[in-house]
Order: sequence, then C-alpha cells, then structure tokens
Amino acid sequence: MKTAFYISKAFFEHDTGPGHPERPARLEAIVNALRSAPFSLWNELDIETPTPAPESRLRSVHTAGHIERVRAACADGLPLDPDTPTSRGSWNAALLAAGSGCNAVDFVLNESVDAAAFCAVRPPGHHAEPDRAMGFCLFNNTAIAARYAVDHPALKNNPRAFILDWDVHHGNGTQAAFYDSNQVFYCSIHQYPFYPGGGDSGDRGAGEGRGFTLNCPQSAESGDVEVLSDLNDRILPAIRKFDPAILLISAGFDAHAADPLAMLELTSECYAEMTRRVIGTLSDLDRPVKIVSMLEGGYDLGAVGESAALHIQALLES
Ligand SMILES: [Zn+2]
Repeated sequence: MKTAFYISKAFFEHDTGPGHPERPARLEAIVNALRSAPFSLWNELDIETPTPAPESRLRSVHTAGHIERVRAACADGLPLDPDTPTSRGSWNAALLAAGSGCNAVDFVLNESVDAAAFCAVRPPGHHAEPDRAMGFCLFNNTAIAARYAVDHPALKNNPRAFILDWDVHHGNGTQAAFYDSNQVFYCSIHQYPFYPGGGDSGDRGAGEGRGFTLNCPQSAESGDVEVLSDLNDRILPAIRKFDPAILLISAGFDAHAADPLAMLELTSECYAEMTRRVIGTLSDLDRPVKIVSMLEGGYDLGAVGESAALHIQALLES
C-alpha cells in the first residue's frame, strides 16, 4: 500500500525537560529503525513535511479557552499539568502535530487506491480533552484528524471514521470528543484499571453515539493472546459493522512488554499482526483502504522503534 510518513524538525523542539519519558529520542528511534537493517524501509515511504493546523481546525475539537491556555503556557514554557510540561517550541510542534493528521487525511483520501500514512508526531494527543490538556498531550491530534475526515468533501457520501486506539492508556480525550457521535466510532484497547482511570467496558457512548464507543480493557500482564482475541472477537466485527470510509489508529507502543510505564506484555510483532488483521477487515469492505496512524505513547526506545517499524512495514506490504 502506498504509505506516507510525516515528520517535522519542530517535533524535536518540544522540550519536556530532563528525565521526561515523552522525549525527542523517541522519534529518532523510529526514524533510525526505518532507515537501517533489518527494516530499511525509508526509501519506500513518501516522506512528507506537515503544515500547521489553523486555529479553526483546533476549534473543531477544543474550546477557545483551552487553545488560549495552551498558547499562554507554551509562550512562558510553563506546565499545563504536573505531567505535561511545555517549552517555547511546544506551540509550533503542537500545531504541526495536529496539522500532520489532517495532511495525512488529505494524502490518503486524494489517492484513488489503497493508501496509508504514519504521523511521527509529538506532543501526542489522545489524553487531551476538549477543554483540558493532560498526560503529555496538548491538542488531540487524532480527534482533530477524525473530525477533519468526516467533514472532508471526499467522504460526503459516507462520512464515517473509525478510531482504533491501541495505546496502553485509555484515550479519555478522544472518547470525550466523540461520545455522542455516530460518525466517529471510538475503540480502545488499554490496561485497566490504570491511568487515566476511564475506559470501562460499560462505557458505550451516549445519545446518537450510543453503541459507537467500544472499550476493551485488559488486566495487567495480558499479552498478545488476550489482545488479539479481543481484536478478532470484538473489534474487527465492530469495524465490519460500522463500515468506515477511513480508519485512524492512535498508535501508542506502550503496551509493549519492555515499556517502563505500563504492565501489558505485547511483543513488537503483535503490532504488525494487529495492522494486518485490520487491513484484512477493511479490504473486505466495498471501497479502497484508507488508514491514518498517529503516534501516541511508547517510552522504551528499542520497543518503540521496532514496533513502529513493524507496523509501518505491515502497511507498506499490504
Ligand atoms: Zn500511553
């Protein structure tokens, strides 16, 4: 599948300070894994430079008050919460991270055939709620991209986006953004109970969105077997039934056994297997496969590099 890779030098200028797990070296690890053996995928990718999201795009998910608080914090390099530091470079990085997802939506929708894009962004996004930054996240990159997709002229006959969030933490911000929506389906696999606290399997959406949220909580020490079984038994059928025109992945790699922040036990290969199974399911729908994958967490450098490369390889080779 034709696959784009979005990255910007500005993502390295979001300075979270010494000792913070969400650090620029994470992106270096992914780029190095793609450039070198055994993967050597760099030359097969369309390497793209993102454009910043305009404020109107941020407003599709976030309140004006939130945007102003983020802008002010970044200008002074002040933290937005105890986990979420900012620096002078954070504002530009955050606009480009949000912009990457929208650029990637344009990229995949402008292709008449199957297409995918991976956005190697930081700061990550899925904990950012409409009116609150938290958990290393300033703006909800994946939610902004999903909203952009369902409003896209190319999807006017089928404005439906499915978000699969396999970051080990529940994506509280993304769930909140679409809890009452039947256009954007939010599905999460996450350790539970765990930070940030939500993601109960009984939370299924509200109003028109009832049935369009699917939480698949995993107990600590669950691994490939448990996660792939939920993927097969619950998630792939939900994708089939929802019949989305585009699928977005909140691609955190912190459910990996080597990750220092959480206690799931996935192998790197599991990310390739999840990718292949999702593509297989989308291929059975009556339209080209469109996938936009956005980096979220993943804090062991070896694991995030290898897992992201295997995920991207599965996109390229499908
Ligand atoms: Zn995470």
